[in-house]
Amino acid sequence: MELKELYKASDNRYSHADTLYRRCGNSGVLLPRISLGFWHNFGSVDPYERSRQITHFAFDNGITHFDLANNYGPVYGSAEETLGKLMDDDFRPYRDELFISTKAGYDMWPGPYGEWGSRKYLMASLDQSLRRMHLDYVDLFYSHRFDPLTPMQETLQTLVDIVRAGKALYIGISNWPLEALRFAHQYLAERDVPLLIYQGRLNRLDRKQMDEGILAYCADNGIGYIAFSPLAQGLLTDRYINGIPADSRMAKGKFLKQEQLTTEVENCLQQVREEARCNGQTTAQRALNWVLEQHGVTSVLVGASSVNQLKDNLETVIK
Ligand code: NDP
Repeated sequence: MELKELYKASDNRYSHADTLYRRCGNSGVLLPRISLGFWHNFGSVDPYERSRQITHFAFDNGITHFDLANNYGPVYGSAEETLGKLMDDDFRPYRDELFISTKAGYDMWPGPYGEWGSRKYLMASLDQSLRRMHLDYVDLFYSHRFDPLTPMQETLQTLVDIVRAGKALYIGISNWPLEALRFAHQYLAERDVPLLIYQGRLNRLDRKQMDEGILAYCADNGIGYIAFSPLAQGLLTDRYINGIPADSRMAKGKFLKQEQLTTEVENCLQQVREEARCNGQTTAQRALNWVLEQHGVTSVLVGASSVNQLKDNLETVIK
């Protein structure tokens, strides 16, 4: 008979609370400045024990926010299944200490109801997500992308109804353009389900959301902002300093391609490395620090394929 090792969270997990947490917009919620994303490294193709160690390290050090989506894996849905197993194995006693998000918007199942922003899709998707994660509710549910063909009212009213049904405590949107963000903010405020947070890409190589005014709009209107891919999927670290490691995201070649390692990226990296050296930081820490310094940023959502990477990233804000 297999004896499962019991997990007990560290008693010191909140010892860095003063520096770790930041208020999410003008809400009541505090989020860790370093949050953990499940897009990669938590799928059915990944070793469960490694995923487990990463989440243990995270929670033991106060990283209370895990970010998922219906189609994270691979295979689609399997990152949520991993979270479900983690809840059963380790985290059930700590459910109220965790802030778990999921999303729907991208392709999830075949046919006309398996993606975008219809009520039909969002409702079904969240129910599936809850089943996979073995949860009664999520803390935060996102519309994962803007749907130009579905009336915004339909998508937003569905988010309101999801909160009213107790399936999510808060609502967020991700990858919506500025005008749609304005509309969403107003629509949700009028229904007393305030927009908690916006999730968008922001890093030293991609400042589009700042240039478009999305970050400023969130900051001015008490909406939190959480930056995804703050390390540009690993480009803004020393991961590729000696070539392309066989176990790296670039070696897998699907989401991060060798062609992305351009001269512009190399130049930016050189600058980040120089700043890191002057500040006594690692390259990854300097890259994360830059994002966290931007006015309006609540948290950075990092990925990690090892405990050491997450430790390096966390040490941006706590030593
Ligand atoms: P990052 O930019 O943090 O990239 C993570 C990758 O960088 C890791 O998998 C690892 O690559 C490498 N890495 C991380 N830390 C270090 C380190 N200290 N030293 C060296 N290499 C390091 O973020 P992601 O692109 O993974 O995105 C983070 C999260 O954001 C996702 O999990 C998801 O939750 C969310 N997201 C949301 C999107 C949306 O549309 N809303 C889109 C994309 C992401 P390797 O695997 O090669 O070791």
